Amino acid sequence: MFKDKHKEISLKLVLATSNKGKVKEIQALCKEYEVVPYSALIEEFEIVENGNTFKENALIKARAVFQALGDKNVIVIADDSGISVDILGGAPGLYSARYAGENATDKENLHKLIDAIKAKNVDSSPAYYTAAIAIVTSTNEYSVHGWMYGTALAQSIGDGGFGYDPMFIPLGYDKTLGELDENSKQKLSHRAKALALAKHILQTF
Ligand code: IMP
Repeated sequence: MFKDKHKEISLKLVLATSNKGKVKEIQALCKEYEVVPYSALIEEFEIVENGNTFKENALIKARAVFQALGDKNVIVIADDSGISVDILGGAPGLYSARYAGENATDKENLHKLIDAIKAKNVDSSPAYYTAAIAIVTSTNEYSVHGWMYGTALAQSIGDGGFGYDPMFIPLGYDKTLGELDENSKQKLSHRAKALALAKHILQTF
């Protein structure tokens, strides 16, 4: 719910994802809005993410969900994100969600990445996360980015967060995102930075 001087407007943001980790983080970072995953409104469907960049994929997801909802008044938000590891030439990057195969679990992806770093005979490598956030409305499309730099370890420590969190130490910290509490991650994450920019756009609606 957000308010203007004359009336109260309920601004519903529909997330074009059903990734529980992302939904939880975005809801926590956007407390001033009503944020619902699209799967709460319509049946989940497959979206082919065949863009060449995080931005393209975020727009593909947001447009697909906007069209499927068939409601001109909704605002759809999509996040496309991933981790890029220097010693692996930037892999898995765009392919982070399907690194260990099409329907790979977070654990399978995590262990494949750990093994790939180990295979280079190192304990760690500089790495970074990218998040592209797309906003699609009936009249406009927007996109913003956020990044988080740090170190990818060839081991998993802690069981907090999701995805590759247990093997990633953010720059300036000595613990993985799997060990840090949710509040710490929300202060520095790629998604938090992109969402801070996205909120500037949302405030203009
Ligand atoms: P997407 O849903 O296509 O954007 O896939 C994102 C992939 O990157 C998933 O495999 C996630 O596990 C991973 N990922 C993105 N953001 C994070 C994060 O904040 N922590 C851990 N893994 C992440």
